[in-house]
Amino acid sequence: MAKFKNHNKKSKTLLLISKKITKKGKIKGDNKKETKQLILMCPHHKITKKGSVKSTLIPNGVDENGRQICTCELCKKDVSTKFYTDEQVDQIVGDMMALLQQLKFMGTAVGADKTTDFAAQACVMNKHVKKSYIRTRNVAKKSGNIKKKKKENGRGSNVYGSWSLSKK
Ligand SMILES: [Zn+2]
Repeated sequence: MAKFKNHNKKSKTLLLISKKITKKGKIKGDNKKETKQLILMCPHHKITKKGSVKSTLIPNGVDENGRQICTCELCKKDVSTKFYTDEQVDQIVGDMMALLQQLKFMGTAVGADKTTDFAAQACVMNKHVKKSYIRTRNVAKKSGNIKKKKKENGRGSNVYGSWSLSKK
């Protein structure tokens, strides 16, 4: 069995995406539709040839709030490396929930049954997003792999350590 640097847990998503990376380092499915879906599923990590789990995030400047922006070399999506506060999570999940409440209502009103069913499921998923984000963030915060960097203005900010950023 191969030894893993950071941990030996590999999600189904990580295993699937890692299998779909081309020699050029792009995610590719059997057709355009599958490729699009796989890109949306990207966990921003890959399994290396040696079997370890490696981040695919590359630092890519800071946004207007001084938040470090990283871009995934696989899916090209920006991923924030600063933790969201409970209040921010409430806000984001709340906004999504408001959208879904209206979608269920409209879907039912216009007789779009599939949309209503999908939106109903999405409401349940959205609630889980909040719980799982907070739980996972708290585990990540406690992890020794996270470096605390003091920003110039003296306010501390958590920046992910070696397990989240790709070293180039
Ligand atoms: Zn990605």
